[in-house]
Amino acid sequence: MNETYTEEQLQNLPFRNIKLDLEKRVEDLLSRLTLEEKFKLSAGRLMWQTKPIRRLGITSFIMYDGPHGVRPDTIGEIKTTYFPSAICRAATWDSELSYEFGKAVAEEVREVGAHMLLAPGINIQRTPMNGRTFEYQTEDPYLNKILAVATVKGIQSQKIAACVKHFICNNQETNRFTVSSEVSERALQEIYFPAFKATVKEADAWSFMTCYNKVNGIYGSENHNLLRERLMGNWNFRGFVVSDWNATAYTSTEKCVKAGLSLEMPTARVFTKKNMNKAFNEGKFTIDDMNGNIRRLLRVMFLVGLFDDENSLPKGSRNTPQHQDLARNIAEDGIVLLKNEGNLLPLSIEKIKKIAVLGPNKNFRLQGGDILSGGGSSVNFPPYEITPLEGLSQKCKDKVEIIETPSNADIAIIFAGLNHNNGMDAEGEDRNSFGLPLEQVKLIKETAKENPRVIVVLINGSPIDMDDWIDQVPSVVEAWYGGMEAGTAIANVLFGDVNPSGKLTITFPKKLSDSPAHGSKRTYPGNDAVFYEEGIFVGYRHFDRQKIAPLFPFGHGLSYTSFTYENLKLDKEKIKGDENLNLSAEITNTGKVEGKEVVQMYLQDVKSSIERPIKELKGFKKIKLKSGQKRTITFELNKQDLSFYNPIKNSWIVEQGAFKIFIGSSSRDILLEGEFEYLQ
Ligand code: BGC
Repeated sequence: MNETYTEEQLQNLPFRNIKLDLEKRVEDLLSRLTLEEKFKLSAGRLMWQTKPIRRLGITSFIMYDGPHGVRPDTIGEIKTTYFPSAICRAATWDSELSYEFGKAVAEEVREVGAHMLLAPGINIQRTPMNGRTFEYQTEDPYLNKILAVATVKGIQSQKIAACVKHFICNNQETNRFTVSSEVSERALQEIYFPAFKATVKEADAWSFMTCYNKVNGIYGSENHNLLRERLMGNWNFRGFVVSDWNATAYTSTEKCVKAGLSLEMPTARVFTKKNMNKAFNEGKFTIDDMNGNIRRLLRVMFLVGLFDDENSLPKGSRNTPQHQDLARNIAEDGIVLLKNEGNLLPLSIEKIKKIAVLGPNKNFRLQGGDILSGGGSSVNFPPYEITPLEGLSQKCKDKVEIIETPSNADIAIIFAGLNHNNGMDAEGEDRNSFGLPLEQVKLIKETAKENPRVIVVLINGSPIDMDDWIDQVPSVVEAWYGGMEAGTAIANVLFGDVNPSGKLTITFPKKLSDSPAHGSKRTYPGNDAVFYEEGIFVGYRHFDRQKIAPLFPFGHGLSYTSFTYENLKLDKEKIKGDENLNLSAEITNTGKVEGKEVVQMYLQDVKSSIERPIKELKGFKKIKLKSGQKRTITFELNKQDLSFYNPIKNSWIVEQGAFKIFIGSSSRDILLEGEFEYLQ
């Protein structure tokens, strides 16, 4: 213990031997650490790193935000690829793109000398008003899971740790440091846990970040039940838990240690040397508790290659044309064509002479524009950004004139939406209004009077109220925050070089009070506590149950071509026990251009002992079809897909009886139906 080593001796210690089994290396290093060094390792320094233990050659483990690109410094001297917001990536419904994004961003993490990315953020979008809706993926647990698993796999393919956040029920920013999310066990099991759990079980996530809030009365960072019992016990998580930055403010040293918090960030609050020694000496935690927590951190240090020769690790790269192409591909495939009356879109570059380009977001940029904030911790600093206006100007060059007066133009395009200022799509506060800023509403209405051929392109990251103006415009495009290549992506979609294929991953309600979390002040925003009284009826599950027509349903998104759905076939009428059911359906592109379609498969338990949703997403396929091309797609359902969490029995169960299958192009555009029976 406490021995000093020469560099040569260090190199010959067992934990430095890459041929040795990972767990043996971990145990060897753990056995060499003094108690004080273990305390030292359990809290960060300088915002983004652990403290080095020089005696043993342990360098700092470095972690950076965030979900849309790596940000190694807060002033932006180091530029990195700015990818589209998570809600845009999710709207592609393309798990391969999520994998590729994870891989690319991890290459950038490696290139800037770090070891962990503080992403993905996978909290369920419980309310459109959450300031961080843009940073999260969806309201649906199944889609959330598929995309989260792909992202984590992509990141970790580069031996960079993913940090899945924020565990759990951090579904709003209002009172985020103190509020208690009061949530039922069934809602946790069916809605909030699945994606988190799957990142452990299916993608072996190496790190989890705690939430700021309490969950049923207990802060995330000292929540023994959540961390020790469920994450580590039930799910077999082998990685380490890090606190959200200062999320330990109101917690206790021993409770955090006991719960399994390995690392307190950004610096010691409860894991100070003094607190740790005191609690330890008073017997409030044991050496085994401490070893368990540090073992997890060390394990991830080995997994990312902290002790290995750089040449043996995947190579990093940053701001490459490949990463920029990927950012554009995600932006293109995430754009959702919400409305397109009379097929106003796509625009023809040959036929149009003049376009009026209006609206504040025509100049939207994350950095260097009029907007003061990047939205919080997910911001990064790209080497360049193509604004919507720049993208259009590039596309129209020498062919179409861009003007500012709609009455003289063939078409008027209004870039409306929100930005990352506080009170809009930004961390730390929730949105202060569900509508567009009033001057934008005015602009849309006045423009529509001058020129009926109006296209509203929305740049934002959460559903907004459109009731006041949507009937006055023929076309609406949801372009989200599309990253550094957003302008090019938008122009490609508007002019039909890219056929839009994005689909909403969150319901757009007609009015906020239609939303499940907005029943009362108790359910949102709450005060000391926020009550998740809607239970499992989050998102479309609520709209279906209450028979409320949304403005745009979950899964909605139009295309420049059309698809027919035919011949749903089930390989059995009845399945028993663990048997699988195989389904197939034929999808044909019946339009004139190539396009991609997201075929969605929903399931209904026709009769159950406790209320279940009218339908739940259980599968989807994104396919690309040429004009006239037909493809047979298949899905598989098993017992687990049919099950629900029974709070009386405290377990997942399947009940005998009839189930319906709905296959469609959105959750409200069901084109094929089938039925089968499940027998125990
Ligand atoms: C955010 C996290 C982020 C961390 C570090 C916190 O305020 O909630 O998502 O990773 O800061 O910037």
